Amino acid sequence: MTGAGVSTELRVVDGALPSRVDLIVVGGGIAGAATAFYAARAGLQVLVVERRAEIASLTTAAATGAFRLQHDNAEELALVREGVDLYLDFAARTGLDGWDLGIRQQGYLFCARSEASAARARELVALQRGFGLTDVELIDGDEVRRRWPMLAPSIIQARFRAGDGFIDQIALARGYATAASNADRIPDALPGGGAQFALGVEVHGFVRDGAGVSGAVIGVETSRGTVHAANTLIAAGPWSGVVGAIAGIDVPIAPTIRQKLVIPELPDIDQSAPMTIDDETGSHWRPALAGCYALRTDPATPVGEPLLEVPTDAAYATALLDPASPSALANLAPFWGEVWRRGVPSWHLMAGQYEYTPDHRPLLGPTALAGLHVNTGYSGHGVMCSAGGARRAVDLLIGRSAVADEPFRMDRPIVKRAHDVL
Ligand SMILES: Cc1cc2nc3c(=O)[nH]c(=O)nc-3n(C[C@H](O)[C@H](O)[C@H](O)COP(=O)(O)OP(=O)(O)OC[C@H]3O[C@@H](n4cnc5c(N)ncnc54)[C@H](O)[C@@H]3O)c2cc1C
Repeated sequence: MTGAGVSTELRVVDGALPSRVDLIVVGGGIAGAATAFYAARAGLQVLVVERRAEIASLTTAAATGAFRLQHDNAEELALVREGVDLYLDFAARTGLDGWDLGIRQQGYLFCARSEASAARARELVALQRGFGLTDVELIDGDEVRRRWPMLAPSIIQARFRAGDGFIDQIALARGYATAASNADRIPDALPGGGAQFALGVEVHGFVRDGAGVSGAVIGVETSRGTVHAANTLIAAGPWSGVVGAIAGIDVPIAPTIRQKLVIPELPDIDQSAPMTIDDETGSHWRPALAGCYALRTDPATPVGEPLLEVPTDAAYATALLDPASPSALANLAPFWGEVWRRGVPSWHLMAGQYEYTPDHRPLLGPTALAGLHVNTGYSGHGVMCSAGGARRAVDLLIGRSAVADEPFRMDRPIVKRAHDVL
Protein backbone atom coordinates (compact mmCIF):
# COMPACT_ATOMS: atom_id res chain seq x y z
CA MET A 1 0.00 0.00 0.00
CA THR A 2 2.69 2.46 0.89
CA GLY A 3 6.23 3.37 0.38
CA ALA A 4 8.06 0.75 -1.67
CA GLY A 5 11.73 1.54 -1.11
CA VAL A 6 11.08 3.86 1.84
CA SER A 7 13.64 3.14 4.55
CA THR A 8 12.13 5.52 7.09
CA GLU A 9 9.94 4.32 9.96
CA LEU A 10 7.41 5.54 12.49
CA ARG A 11 9.15 6.40 15.77
CA VAL A 12 7.15 4.55 18.42
CA VAL A 13 8.03 5.12 22.09
CA ASP A 14 8.59 1.81 23.88
CA GLY A 15 8.68 2.07 27.66
CA ALA A 16 8.87 5.39 29.51
CA LEU A 17 7.52 8.49 27.77
CA PRO A 18 9.79 11.53 27.40
CA SER A 19 9.42 13.84 30.41
CA ARG A 20 9.25 16.99 28.26
CA VAL A 21 8.56 17.86 24.61
CA ASP A 22 7.53 21.07 22.81
CA LEU A 23 4.05 19.85 21.81
CA ILE A 24 1.81 17.01 22.98
CA VAL A 25 -0.89 15.93 20.52
CA VAL A 26 -3.80 13.99 22.04
CA GLY A 27 -5.02 11.54 19.38
CA GLY A 28 -3.28 9.77 16.52
CA GLY A 29 -5.95 9.88 13.83
CA ILE A 30 -5.36 11.76 10.60
CA ALA A 31 -5.71 15.17 12.35
CA GLY A 32 -3.12 14.27 14.98
CA ALA A 33 -0.74 12.76 12.43
CA ALA A 34 -1.02 15.81 10.16
CA THR A 35 -0.43 18.12 13.13
CA ALA A 36 2.70 16.15 14.00
CA PHE A 37 3.95 16.56 10.43
CA TYR A 38 3.52 20.34 10.31
CA ALA A 39 4.82 20.84 13.86
CA ALA A 40 7.92 18.70 13.25
CA ARG A 41 8.47 20.60 9.99
CA ALA A 42 8.32 23.84 12.02
CA GLY A 43 11.13 22.59 14.26
CA LEU A 44 9.07 21.34 17.25
CA GLN A 45 9.66 18.12 19.16
CA VAL A 46 6.25 16.43 19.26
CA LEU A 47 4.74 13.53 21.20
CA VAL A 48 1.53 12.07 19.78
CA VAL A 49 -0.40 10.10 22.40
CA GLU A 50 -2.84 7.56 20.95
CA ARG A 51 -5.05 5.34 23.08
CA ARG A 52 -5.34 2.57 20.48
CA ALA A 53 -2.62 0.17 19.40
CA GLU A 54 -2.34 1.75 15.94
CA ILE A 55 -2.58 5.22 14.50
CA ALA A 56 -5.49 6.07 12.16
CA SER A 57 -7.54 3.16 13.46
CA LEU A 58 -10.75 4.85 14.72
CA THR A 59 -12.73 7.32 12.56
CA THR A 60 -9.99 7.68 9.98
CA ALA A 61 -10.08 3.93 9.25
CA ALA A 62 -13.80 4.09 8.42
CA ALA A 63 -13.58 6.98 5.93
CA THR A 64 -14.32 6.73 2.22
CA GLY A 65 -11.13 8.61 1.43
CA ALA A 66 -12.80 11.03 -0.94
CA PHE A 67 -11.84 14.67 -1.57
CA ARG A 68 -13.57 17.47 -3.41
CA LEU A 69 -13.21 21.16 -4.02
CA GLN A 70 -16.98 21.30 -4.62
CA HIS A 71 -17.88 22.92 -1.29
CA ASP A 72 -20.47 25.53 -0.37
CA ASN A 73 -18.01 27.86 1.38
CA ALA A 74 -14.72 29.40 0.31
CA GLU A 75 -12.97 28.64 3.60
CA GLU A 76 -13.35 24.83 3.51
CA LEU A 77 -12.60 24.90 -0.20
CA ALA A 78 -9.28 26.58 0.64
CA LEU A 79 -8.45 23.85 3.18
CA VAL A 80 -9.04 21.10 0.64
CA ARG A 81 -7.19 22.96 -2.11
CA GLU A 82 -4.13 23.24 0.11
CA GLY A 83 -4.40 19.53 0.87
CA VAL A 84 -4.72 18.43 -2.76
CA ASP A 85 -1.61 20.49 -3.66
CA LEU A 86 0.31 18.51 -1.02
CA TYR A 87 -1.19 15.09 -1.85
CA LEU A 88 -0.28 15.39 -5.54
CA ASP A 89 3.36 16.02 -4.62
CA PHE A 90 3.44 14.10 -1.34
CA ALA A 91 6.60 12.02 -1.72
CA ALA A 92 8.74 15.03 -2.67
CA ARG A 93 7.28 17.39 -0.07
CA THR A 94 7.60 14.93 2.81
CA GLY A 95 10.94 13.37 1.87
CA LEU A 96 9.30 9.92 1.64
CA ASP A 97 10.57 8.60 -1.69
CA GLY A 98 8.05 6.37 -3.40
CA TRP A 99 5.25 6.92 -0.86
CA ASP A 100 2.02 6.06 -2.68
CA LEU A 101 -1.25 7.68 -1.60
CA GLY A 102 -3.30 5.79 -4.19
CA ILE A 103 -4.77 9.02 -5.58
CA ARG A 104 -7.49 8.59 -8.21
CA GLN A 105 -8.83 11.85 -9.68
CA GLN A 106 -12.03 10.45 -11.19
CA GLY A 107 -14.32 13.27 -10.20
CA TYR A 108 -17.41 13.85 -8.08
CA LEU A 109 -20.75 13.70 -9.87
CA PHE A 110 -23.76 15.10 -7.96
CA CYS A 111 -26.97 14.00 -9.71
CA ALA A 112 -30.28 15.87 -9.50
CA ARG A 113 -33.54 13.99 -10.11
CA SER A 114 -35.90 16.87 -9.27
CA GLU A 115 -36.20 20.43 -10.51
CA ALA A 116 -35.70 21.72 -6.95
CA SER A 117 -32.33 19.92 -6.63
CA ALA A 118 -31.30 21.02 -10.12
CA ALA A 119 -32.04 24.66 -9.21
CA ARG A 120 -30.03 24.35 -5.95
CA ALA A 121 -27.14 22.86 -7.91
CA ARG A 122 -27.16 25.77 -10.37
CA GLU A 123 -27.06 28.24 -7.46
CA LEU A 124 -24.21 26.33 -5.85
CA VAL A 125 -22.16 26.24 -9.03
CA ALA A 126 -22.65 30.02 -9.44
CA LEU A 127 -21.48 30.47 -5.83
CA GLN A 128 -18.43 28.26 -6.45
CA ARG A 129 -17.53 30.25 -9.56
CA GLY A 130 -17.57 33.29 -7.27
CA PHE A 131 -14.97 31.52 -5.10
CA GLY A 132 -12.77 31.12 -8.20
CA LEU A 133 -13.69 27.44 -8.70
CA THR A 134 -14.34 27.65 -12.43
CA ASP A 135 -13.95 24.00 -13.47
CA VAL A 136 -17.25 22.62 -12.13
CA GLU A 137 -19.40 21.53 -15.06
CA LEU A 138 -23.19 21.69 -15.15
CA ILE A 139 -24.39 18.84 -17.38
CA ASP A 140 -27.90 18.09 -18.64
CA GLY A 141 -29.46 14.63 -18.26
CA ASP A 142 -28.78 13.42 -21.82
CA GLU A 143 -25.14 14.44 -21.65
CA VAL A 144 -24.85 12.73 -18.23
CA ARG A 145 -26.03 9.44 -19.76
CA ARG A 146 -23.83 9.87 -22.84
CA ARG A 147 -20.77 10.16 -20.57
CA TRP A 148 -21.86 7.59 -17.95
CA PRO A 149 -24.25 5.21 -19.77
CA MET A 150 -25.04 3.26 -16.58
CA LEU A 151 -26.95 6.23 -15.10
CA ALA A 152 -30.75 6.42 -14.84
CA PRO A 153 -33.17 8.26 -17.18
CA SER A 154 -34.58 10.06 -14.11
CA ILE A 155 -31.42 12.18 -13.74
CA ILE A 156 -32.20 15.59 -15.20
CA GLN A 157 -28.94 17.42 -14.45
CA ALA A 158 -25.58 16.88 -12.73
CA ARG A 159 -22.64 18.91 -11.52
CA PHE A 160 -19.20 17.42 -12.05
CA ARG A 161 -15.62 18.33 -11.27
CA ALA A 162 -13.08 16.01 -12.83
CA GLY A 163 -10.23 16.96 -10.46
CA ASP A 164 -12.05 15.69 -7.35
CA GLY A 165 -11.38 12.11 -6.33
CA PHE A 166 -10.22 9.54 -3.81
CA ILE A 167 -7.13 8.88 -1.73
CA ASP A 168 -5.95 6.06 0.53
CA GLN A 169 -6.48 7.86 3.83
CA ILE A 170 -4.55 5.31 5.89
CA ALA A 171 -1.53 5.77 3.63
CA LEU A 172 -1.94 9.54 4.02
CA ALA A 173 -2.12 9.40 7.83
CA ARG A 174 0.84 7.01 8.01
CA GLY A 175 2.70 9.22 5.57
CA TYR A 176 2.25 12.30 7.77
CA ALA A 177 3.36 10.30 10.82
CA THR A 178 6.35 8.71 9.11
CA ALA A 179 7.52 12.04 7.69
CA ALA A 180 7.13 13.64 11.15
CA SER A 181 9.21 10.81 12.64
CA ASN A 182 11.96 11.53 10.11
CA ALA A 183 11.68 15.31 9.98
CA ASP A 184 15.31 15.79 8.91
CA ARG A 185 14.23 14.41 5.51
CA ILE A 186 11.42 16.97 5.00
CA PRO A 187 12.91 19.34 2.41
CA ASP A 188 11.77 22.64 3.95
CA ALA A 189 11.87 21.64 7.65
CA LEU A 190 13.36 23.93 10.27
CA PRO A 191 16.11 22.20 12.26
CA GLY A 192 15.49 20.37 15.52
CA GLY A 193 11.98 19.03 14.87
CA GLY A 194 10.68 15.49 15.06
CA ALA A 195 7.84 13.35 16.38
CA GLN A 196 7.39 10.25 18.49
CA PHE A 197 4.25 8.18 18.85
CA ALA A 198 3.06 6.68 22.15
CA LEU A 199 0.59 3.93 21.19
CA GLY A 200 -1.81 2.18 23.54
CA VAL A 201 -1.48 5.18 25.89
CA GLU A 202 -4.47 7.19 27.12
CA VAL A 203 -4.50 10.84 28.19
CA HIS A 204 -6.68 11.08 31.30
CA GLY A 205 -5.65 14.40 32.84
CA PHE A 206 -3.96 17.76 32.23
CA VAL A 207 -1.13 19.25 34.27
CA ARG A 208 -1.91 22.86 35.23
CA ASP A 209 0.42 25.70 36.10
CA GLY A 210 -0.48 26.52 39.71
CA ALA A 211 -3.67 25.57 41.52
CA GLY A 212 -7.20 25.98 40.18
CA VAL A 213 -8.86 25.47 36.82
CA SER A 214 -7.66 28.64 35.08
CA GLY A 215 -3.92 27.90 35.16
CA ALA A 216 -2.16 27.27 31.86
CA VAL A 217 -1.95 23.70 30.60
CA ILE A 218 1.68 22.59 30.92
CA GLY A 219 1.38 18.89 30.21
CA VAL A 220 -0.73 15.74 30.35
CA GLU A 221 -1.23 12.78 32.65
CA THR A 222 -1.34 9.49 30.81
CA SER A 223 -1.67 5.80 31.52
CA ARG A 224 2.15 5.70 31.13
CA GLY A 225 3.06 8.70 33.27
CA THR A 226 3.23 12.49 33.08
CA VAL A 227 4.66 14.50 30.19
CA HIS A 228 5.31 18.26 30.24
CA ALA A 229 5.09 20.60 27.24
CA ALA A 230 4.64 24.30 26.56
CA ASN A 231 1.66 23.38 24.35
CA THR A 232 -0.88 20.57 24.13
CA LEU A 233 -3.29 20.08 21.23
CA ILE A 234 -6.50 18.05 21.25
CA ALA A 235 -7.00 16.04 18.05
CA ALA A 236 -9.21 13.32 19.50
CA GLY A 237 -11.87 13.25 16.76
CA PRO A 238 -15.28 12.30 18.22
CA TRP A 239 -13.64 12.15 21.67
CA SER A 240 -12.46 15.79 21.57
CA GLY A 241 -15.43 16.99 23.64
CA VAL A 242 -14.67 14.42 26.34
CA VAL A 243 -10.96 15.29 26.37
CA GLY A 244 -11.76 19.03 26.46
CA ALA A 245 -14.11 18.48 29.41
CA ILE A 246 -11.24 16.93 31.40
CA ALA A 247 -9.47 20.28 31.04
CA GLY A 248 -12.71 22.13 31.90
CA ILE A 249 -13.35 23.61 28.45
CA ASP A 250 -16.25 23.17 26.04
CA VAL A 251 -15.24 21.63 22.71
CA PRO A 252 -18.67 21.33 21.03
CA ILE A 253 -18.59 17.99 19.20
CA ALA A 254 -21.69 15.93 18.40
CA PRO A 255 -20.59 12.35 17.54
CA THR A 256 -22.95 10.83 14.98
CA ILE A 257 -22.63 7.29 13.60
CA ARG A 258 -21.87 6.94 9.88
CA GLN A 259 -21.47 3.61 8.15
CA LYS A 260 -19.74 2.46 4.97
CA LEU A 261 -20.87 -0.52 2.91
CA VAL A 262 -17.86 -2.32 1.42
CA ILE A 263 -18.41 -4.64 -1.56
CA PRO A 264 -14.88 -5.88 -2.30
CA GLU A 265 -15.71 -7.50 -5.66
CA LEU A 266 -18.45 -6.35 -8.01
CA PRO A 267 -17.80 -6.57 -11.76
CA ASP A 268 -20.78 -4.25 -12.46
CA ILE A 269 -18.81 -1.29 -11.07
CA ASP A 270 -16.97 0.76 -13.68
CA GLN A 271 -13.63 1.28 -11.95
CA SER A 272 -13.04 4.52 -13.88
CA ALA A 273 -16.34 6.08 -12.72
CA PRO A 274 -16.57 9.11 -10.42
CA MET A 275 -17.98 9.30 -6.90
CA THR A 276 -21.67 9.30 -7.90
CA ILE A 277 -24.15 10.97 -5.55
CA ASP A 278 -27.92 11.19 -5.48
CA ASP A 279 -28.73 14.80 -4.55
CA GLU A 280 -32.23 13.73 -3.45
CA THR A 281 -31.22 11.14 -0.84
CA GLY A 282 -27.46 11.54 -0.29
CA SER A 283 -26.90 7.88 -1.31
CA HIS A 284 -23.61 7.45 -3.17
CA TRP A 285 -20.98 5.01 -4.26
CA ARG A 286 -17.44 5.16 -5.51
CA PRO A 287 -15.19 2.53 -7.11
CA ALA A 288 -12.87 0.86 -4.58
CA LEU A 289 -10.92 -2.41 -4.42
CA ALA A 290 -12.45 -4.53 -7.24
CA GLY A 291 -15.91 -3.30 -6.26
CA CYS A 292 -17.05 -0.21 -4.39
CA TYR A 293 -17.81 1.65 -1.19
CA ALA A 294 -21.43 2.79 -0.86
CA LEU A 295 -22.78 5.20 1.72
CA ARG A 296 -25.63 7.38 2.81
CA THR A 297 -25.55 10.25 5.28
CA ASP A 298 -28.94 10.12 6.96
CA PRO A 299 -29.65 13.54 8.55
CA ALA A 300 -32.04 11.81 10.98
CA THR A 301 -29.26 9.80 12.70
CA PRO A 302 -29.26 10.89 16.36
CA VAL A 303 -26.23 12.38 18.08
CA GLY A 304 -24.65 9.97 20.58
CA GLU A 305 -21.75 9.53 22.95
CA PRO A 306 -18.28 8.96 21.49
CA LEU A 307 -17.58 5.25 21.07
CA LEU A 308 -14.46 3.09 21.20
CA GLU A 309 -16.02 0.51 18.88
CA VAL A 310 -18.71 1.79 16.54
CA PRO A 311 -21.52 -0.71 15.82
CA THR A 312 -22.90 -1.43 12.34
CA ASP A 313 -26.47 -2.23 11.36
CA ALA A 314 -27.35 -4.51 8.43
CA ALA A 315 -30.48 -2.41 7.73
CA TYR A 316 -28.09 0.27 6.46
CA ALA A 317 -26.98 -2.01 3.62
CA THR A 318 -30.55 -2.95 2.73
CA ALA A 319 -31.56 0.72 2.54
CA LEU A 320 -28.91 1.23 -0.15
CA LEU A 321 -29.28 -2.06 -2.03
CA ASP A 322 -32.98 -2.97 -2.03
CA PRO A 323 -34.52 -1.19 -5.05
CA ALA A 324 -37.76 -0.84 -3.04
CA SER A 325 -36.01 1.44 -0.52
CA PRO A 326 -36.49 5.22 -1.02
CA SER A 327 -32.70 5.69 -0.69
CA ALA A 328 -31.79 2.85 -3.09
CA LEU A 329 -28.73 3.24 -5.30
CA ALA A 330 -30.95 1.82 -8.06
CA ASN A 331 -32.57 5.29 -8.22
CA LEU A 332 -29.28 6.49 -9.72
CA ALA A 333 -28.30 3.52 -11.86
CA PRO A 334 -30.53 0.58 -12.90
CA PHE A 335 -27.65 -1.95 -12.65
CA TRP A 336 -28.01 -1.80 -8.86
CA GLY A 337 -31.47 -3.36 -9.26
CA GLU A 338 -29.89 -6.22 -11.23
CA VAL A 339 -27.24 -6.69 -8.55
CA TRP A 340 -30.01 -7.01 -5.91
CA ARG A 341 -32.02 -9.51 -7.97
CA ARG A 342 -28.92 -11.64 -8.68
CA GLY A 343 -27.86 -11.52 -5.03
CA VAL A 344 -25.24 -9.09 -3.78
CA PRO A 345 -21.84 -10.79 -3.48
CA SER A 346 -19.89 -10.78 -0.23
CA TRP A 347 -20.14 -7.43 1.57
CA HIS A 348 -19.49 -5.99 5.02
CA LEU A 349 -20.07 -2.74 6.89
CA MET A 350 -17.61 -0.44 8.64
CA ALA A 351 -18.61 2.41 10.94
CA GLY A 352 -17.20 5.53 12.51
CA GLN A 353 -18.62 8.75 13.93
CA TYR A 354 -18.81 12.11 12.23
CA GLU A 355 -17.47 14.72 14.66
CA TYR A 356 -20.04 17.45 13.99
CA THR A 357 -19.55 20.98 15.30
CA PRO A 358 -22.53 23.39 15.52
CA ASP A 359 -21.76 24.85 12.06
CA HIS A 360 -20.23 21.66 10.58
CA ARG A 361 -16.83 23.34 10.20
CA PRO A 362 -13.59 22.48 12.01
CA LEU A 363 -12.27 24.01 15.22
CA LEU A 364 -8.66 25.15 14.93
CA GLY A 365 -6.26 27.01 17.19
CA PRO A 366 -5.98 28.14 20.79
CA THR A 367 -8.67 27.54 23.41
CA ALA A 368 -9.56 29.80 26.33
CA LEU A 369 -6.88 27.99 28.34
CA ALA A 370 -3.28 29.08 27.76
CA GLY A 371 -1.19 26.24 26.37
CA LEU A 372 -4.19 24.25 25.10
CA HIS A 373 -5.11 24.10 21.40
CA VAL A 374 -7.49 22.11 19.19
CA ASN A 375 -7.46 20.63 15.70
CA THR A 376 -10.74 18.79 15.43
CA GLY A 377 -14.44 18.87 14.47
CA TYR A 378 -14.06 18.25 10.73
CA SER A 379 -17.70 17.14 10.55
CA GLY A 380 -17.07 14.38 8.04
CA HIS A 381 -14.38 16.14 5.98
CA GLY A 382 -11.31 15.36 8.06
CA VAL A 383 -9.36 13.44 5.42
CA MET A 384 -9.63 16.03 2.66
CA CYS A 385 -9.08 18.97 5.07
CA SER A 386 -6.29 17.34 7.09
CA ALA A 387 -3.32 19.15 5.55
CA GLY A 388 -4.85 22.63 5.40
CA GLY A 389 -6.32 22.35 8.91
CA ALA A 390 -3.16 21.02 10.56
CA ARG A 391 -0.91 23.55 8.85
CA ARG A 392 -3.12 26.37 10.15
CA ALA A 393 -3.36 24.89 13.68
CA VAL A 394 0.43 24.76 13.84
CA ASP A 395 0.86 28.27 12.38
CA LEU A 396 -1.49 29.61 15.08
CA LEU A 397 0.40 27.70 17.78
CA ILE A 398 3.82 29.07 16.82
CA GLY A 399 2.51 32.60 16.21
CA ARG A 400 3.07 32.50 12.46
CA SER A 401 -0.53 33.58 11.91
CA ALA A 402 -3.01 35.63 13.93
CA VAL A 403 -6.00 34.04 15.66
CA ALA A 404 -8.27 36.95 14.71
CA ASP A 405 -7.68 36.16 11.01
CA GLU A 406 -8.55 32.46 11.36
CA PRO A 407 -12.10 31.66 10.17
CA PHE A 408 -12.09 28.33 12.07
CA ARG A 409 -11.00 29.77 15.45
CA MET A 410 -12.83 28.47 18.54
CA ASP A 411 -14.65 31.72 19.37
CA ARG A 412 -15.98 32.54 15.89
CA PRO A 413 -19.63 33.46 15.52
CA ILE A 414 -21.54 30.27 14.66
CA VAL A 415 -23.71 30.50 11.55
CA LYS A 416 -25.88 27.41 11.00
CA ARG A 417 -25.67 26.00 7.46
CA ALA A 418 -27.94 23.85 5.33
CA HIS A 419 -27.11 20.15 5.73
CA ASP A 420 -24.41 18.91 3.39
CA VAL A 421 -25.64 15.64 1.79
CA LEU A 422 -22.19 14.13 2.43
C1 LIG B 1 -18.19 6.46 7.22
C2 LIG B 1 -17.30 7.69 7.13
C3 LIG B 1 -16.90 8.13 5.89
C4 LIG B 1 -16.08 9.26 5.78
N1 LIG B 1 -15.64 9.66 4.54
C5 LIG B 1 -14.83 10.72 4.44
C6 LIG B 1 -14.33 11.12 3.17
O1 LIG B 1 -14.63 10.53 2.14
N2 LIG B 1 -13.52 12.22 3.11
C7 LIG B 1 -13.17 12.92 4.24
O2 LIG B 1 -12.45 13.92 4.12
N3 LIG B 1 -13.60 12.55 5.45
C8 LIG B 1 -14.42 11.46 5.58
N4 LIG B 1 -14.87 11.09 6.80
C9 LIG B 1 -14.51 11.91 7.97
C10 LIG B 1 -13.12 11.58 8.43
O3 LIG B 1 -12.97 10.18 8.54
C11 LIG B 1 -12.89 12.23 9.79
O4 LIG B 1 -13.21 13.62 9.70
C12 LIG B 1 -11.44 12.09 10.21
O5 LIG B 1 -11.01 10.75 10.11
C13 LIG B 1 -11.28 12.59 11.64
O6 LIG B 1 -9.93 12.38 12.01
P1 LIG B 1 -9.47 12.67 13.48
O7 LIG B 1 -8.02 12.43 13.53
O8 LIG B 1 -10.00 13.99 13.91
O9 LIG B 1 -10.28 11.59 14.37
P2 LIG B 1 -9.97 10.04 14.62
O10 LIG B 1 -9.54 9.34 13.39
O11 LIG B 1 -11.14 9.51 15.37
O12 LIG B 1 -8.72 10.09 15.59
C14 LIG B 1 -8.83 10.51 16.92
C15 LIG B 1 -7.95 9.63 17.77
O13 LIG B 1 -7.91 10.11 19.11
C16 LIG B 1 -7.75 9.00 19.97
N5 LIG B 1 -8.13 9.38 21.33
C17 LIG B 1 -9.34 9.78 21.75
N6 LIG B 1 -9.30 10.05 23.08
C18 LIG B 1 -8.02 9.85 23.48
C19 LIG B 1 -7.35 9.96 24.73
N7 LIG B 1 -7.98 10.37 25.85
N8 LIG B 1 -6.03 9.63 24.79
C20 LIG B 1 -5.38 9.23 23.68
N9 LIG B 1 -5.97 9.09 22.47
C21 LIG B 1 -7.27 9.41 22.37
C22 LIG B 1 -8.69 7.97 19.34
O14 LIG B 1 -8.35 6.65 19.77
C23 LIG B 1 -8.48 8.19 17.85
O15 LIG B 1 -7.54 7.31 17.28
C24 LIG B 1 -15.68 9.96 6.94
C25 LIG B 1 -16.06 9.49 8.20
C26 LIG B 1 -16.87 8.36 8.30
C27 LIG B 1 -17.27 7.89 9.66
